[in-house]
Amino acid sequence: MVTSSDFSFYESVGAVHLHSLHSDGALAIPEIAEIAGTKGLDFLMFSDHNTLEPKRHGLEGWYGRILVLIGYEINDEDDKNHYLAFRLNEEVPGRKAVEYVAQVKGAGGIGIIAHPAEKRNYFEAYPPYPWTAWDAEGYDGIEIWNQLSEWMEGLTWRNALWRIWHPLRSIRFPVPEIMQRWDRLNRERRVIGVGGIDVHAFTIKLMGFIPVKIYPYKVQFKSIRTHVFTPEEPGADAGFHQSEAALYQGLVSGHCFVSNYSLGDARGFRFYGEINDEIVVMGSRRVFDGTLSLTVTAPQQGHICLLRDGTVIEEAVGQSLQCKVNMPGVYRVEICRKGRGWIYSNPIVLTGVL
Ligand SMILES: [Zn+2]
Ligand SMILES: [Zn+2]
Repeated sequence: MVTSSDFSFYESVGAVHLHSLHSDGALAIPEIAEIAGTKGLDFLMFSDHNTLEPKRHGLEGWYGRILVLIGYEINDEDDKNHYLAFRLNEEVPGRKAVEYVAQVKGAGGIGIIAHPAEKRNYFEAYPPYPWTAWDAEGYDGIEIWNQLSEWMEGLTWRNALWRIWHPLRSIRFPVPEIMQRWDRLNRERRVIGVGGIDVHAFTIKLMGFIPVKIYPYKVQFKSIRTHVFTPEEPGADAGFHQSEAALYQGLVSGHCFVSNYSLGDARGFRFYGEINDEIVVMGSRRVFDGTLSLTVTAPQQGHICLLRDGTVIEEAVGQSLQCKVNMPGVYRVEICRKGRGWIYSNPIVLTGVL
């Protein structure tokens, strides 16, 4: 019998999709890293608009115990199809989404579709930036939850003050349409789910003239987090490049989950399968070859749902759930607390016989 103590991976907790002074963010990368260090984060993934300049300036590296990784956010000529590109040394030339998705892949990078389902249209000055190029091939993942996107999406003139005063309470759930698409995509191939905060700490103008400062980095670092599992512990002792490689590999393999920290620290959440004394971790894909025992454990109480292909097949209120599954499908976990979304695992996929 395998127990959760046999789950011998290291968990690193990070904030993904950050803007700094190198585009439209409000602070410099070292200042942001210092703030993150006070919020218990292990890594940061920066994605300034259309430039890898901070990477060329040598700003990647260890800042105390925070690992800073630098990618960039690409957009097309219509300022749509925003794409987070990491593990690159230089920008790719394409201006159309199908081009830059393929080019990031070709260069050995990691590409994540940003805020794919934005629809907001309440404030003319802040239009949505949805993903429309679903025919693009080679993306590694999608943002299943984007904090700024959800905040802006629900923003109206009537609720603006409440949402400005209670930024973290406005985080409720990922967009259902995206979760459905994510499940469908994973039936075909691995598409990782990542949580983005899209932090800028900038000032917006409501109704065109009332300036409102969108909450600062220190507040956003208490919102949506991405937890990544690696076989080795990333750490300054291991050196930057080794830690960078391990973290990116854990991420692109889907050994990760997304949490909303404002509902509780999700560090310690586990979702894994067991077959013939072998552990099957989140992000794994394997041909269905017999009954798989799935285990979920959570660090705090919640309403745990196990889903197959987007449908709940088992649920429990508490800190654990166990279930034996004996058919192919995309299996993943969602946990709610206080009526809101808290944890979203990446899936374990059992494919049919090839
Ligand atoms: Zn964007
Ligand atoms: Zn962004």
